[in-house]
Amino acid sequence: MGHMLDALSPRLLETGPVDLAAAPSGTNFRRGRDAEGVEWLLLDMPGRSVNVVDQSMLEELDGILGELERNPPKALVIRSVKPSGFIVGADIKMFDGLKSAGEVEEALGKAHAVVDRLEKLSFPTAAIIHGNCLGGGLEIALACKRRIAVGKAKLGFPEVMLGLHPGLGGTYRSTALIDPTEAMTMMLTGKTKSARAAKRLGLVDVAIEERHVAAAVSALAKGELKSAASDGLMDKALATGPGRRFAGERMRSKVAERARREHYPAPYALIELWQEHGGDRKAMQAGEIRSFASLLVTDTARNLIRVFFLREKLKGEGAGKSGIRHVHVVGAGTMGGEIAAWCAKSGMTATLQDVATAPIGKAVKSAARMLEKVLKDRIAIRNALDRLIPDPNGYGAAKADLIIEAVPERLDLKKKIYAGLEERMKPGAILATNTSSIPLEDLRDGLKDPARFVGIHFFNPVSRMQLVEVVRHDGLSEETLKTTLAFVTDIDRLPAPVKSSPGFLVNRVLTPYLLEAMLLLDEGVEPEMIDEAAEEFGMPMGPVELMDNVGLDVGLAVADELRGRLSTPIPEAPAWLKEKVEKGELGRKTGKGLYTYGKDGKPEKKRHEGTIQRADLTDRLVLPLLNTSVAALRENVVRDEDILDGAMIFGTGFAPFRGGPIHYARGRGVAEIVKRLEELAEKYGERFAPDAGWADLRQEERAAA
Ligand code: NAD
Repeated sequence: MGHMLDALSPRLLETGPVDLAAAPSGTNFRRGRDAEGVEWLLLDMPGRSVNVVDQSMLEELDGILGELERNPPKALVIRSVKPSGFIVGADIKMFDGLKSAGEVEEALGKAHAVVDRLEKLSFPTAAIIHGNCLGGGLEIALACKRRIAVGKAKLGFPEVMLGLHPGLGGTYRSTALIDPTEAMTMMLTGKTKSARAAKRLGLVDVAIEERHVAAAVSALAKGELKSAASDGLMDKALATGPGRRFAGERMRSKVAERARREHYPAPYALIELWQEHGGDRKAMQAGEIRSFASLLVTDTARNLIRVFFLREKLKGEGAGKSGIRHVHVVGAGTMGGEIAAWCAKSGMTATLQDVATAPIGKAVKSAARMLEKVLKDRIAIRNALDRLIPDPNGYGAAKADLIIEAVPERLDLKKKIYAGLEERMKPGAILATNTSSIPLEDLRDGLKDPARFVGIHFFNPVSRMQLVEVVRHDGLSEETLKTTLAFVTDIDRLPAPVKSSPGFLVNRVLTPYLLEAMLLLDEGVEPEMIDEAAEEFGMPMGPVELMDNVGLDVGLAVADELRGRLSTPIPEAPAWLKEKVEKGELGRKTGKGLYTYGKDGKPEKKRHEGTIQRADLTDRLVLPLLNTSVAALRENVVRDEDILDGAMIFGTGFAPFRGGPIHYARGRGVAEIVKRLEELAEKYGERFAPDAGWADLRQEERAAA
């Protein structure tokens, strides 16, 4: 259905008396009054595929509200005519150029006045919501007296992902309208609600299909559209200070499981605001503006907004449609099985081939588990499973638009398979490899059509790792590259184009970091302390636990593969690590590695006491990662810093609120980092020697200053 709505022409949306063809140019809204006296206000911001809340939109709305006050209609309905939905949020660029929290407060005050004006209108008002209704869009809808959700509407407050909380009245309108615990959860998690779930909460008053919109509007005009929010819902206990303090405490400890206050202040600020002032509209409004403004000027919010644009940039790398409908995957192991399942989930036909039948069976079983988690909807799960086709004989290879090879990491095996595939492939189809370490130049050697051969390097698990490296080589055609990048965005992953070089980007940058953690273990530092240092820096998981997750066997193999082939040194792993691998203690997958794993799959960690930080611990972990990033940049493994930062954030979870490795390095100061690396090199060895690439960054820094 979501797809159907996307394909709907705006003409098929109920738009009352408004003639869409006769839109005044240069304006955001079109309007008209119908025979029943209902004013239809249609939002259609020019030059954009989605509507946002921005200065121009608010100013125009303010003018219209003034006119409606003077000449009141029977009712007012606001809706979007963009097929994509209602409003996706406030334009993040709206606050560009505002330097201080004071300036932000002033701008917000003006915006609030417009939304308050909408709220105070004397006649019935409703937002008609289809598609996305997020952030500032939901805040405008909340200022209407009623909300009509249409079809597969999605409502939510994603501000927290940008290091913010709602800033246009959302914090008090949502907590006053529905169960405040539910409203707070929405704002603290950023998760969206479907139309049906929103109706259950009372966030929308009706959830209907498009064909019933006209009737709902008629009911609104007659004063017959009932509110779904019941007055009794607001828990009496939460109307009192002590009740809110208790509830807030619980929220805070939940948030603390996922985000540290020093890294992510927004959820904590929101909880405090509500604890302090919940129920007191005036104090909430003043507090919301103040809190939002002070959050907006933090490094965290700035960097998370940067991350938002990095994501857009990576998506932009894969702009356009790939036209790929059928993917054939050869090798149904750890990677191939999930790659095929993910393609099926994305609406493609996926045929899955292996030399043995057992891996295919296993892959289909785990595909069912994965799809249940990500899709939830029973029909969608069944349809996706129908598109995933076991293909032991490899018939799909002749029909596929794209073939992805994911067999074991052996050059001879892969080349033999390519020779067979090239015989049978459809003309124009693309042949891709999921190799992590074999140079593409070695693999393309001997192919009939190297221009159509490319690397598509997925990360494990495919369903959770957003990044995919698209690997170039010297014989690749621009057209193949473009189609491949578009394919990656088609399946809802983020493509990072990289050069074929050992470890590509992500594995190369991660390896020195992981190995340094192994050397620290070798020196007798507690694993818990190493992980804590990395998590304190902002990594989602420490390097010791990460190594266990990757698998000690895989991690060691990657390090061995890279050692000696790079301009940057990779230290030898301690001997006991190899012994562990020989003993089969491979990490999480075997229940024991560097940690021991319980039934819940979680590592058993000893709590270490307080902050007995060892000298240099954090820098010994983080600086090799930065040093290698700079080397990769110098060698043009990626085209620019933003792609590097985005790839490390989406590929490894590198502390998002720091904006990426290079962004962090620049912020801390190139000269300071080079000095620290030299100190570490002196103390611990040449592996810390600053890369030649730092000089380039320094020069740019000087030029900018
Ligand atoms: P795997 O051993 O789990 O699976 C490989 C599958 O290929 C097995 O099921 C095997 O039966 C099958 N196979 C072997 N010979 C075949 C043939 N001639 N025809 C068809 N199928 C055949 O391996 P994996 O971990 O999925 O890795 C596959 C590729 O992906 C490798 O190139 C690896 O470097 C790369 N990779 C792995 C990871 C990871 O974390 N495991 C991550 C990224 C990339």
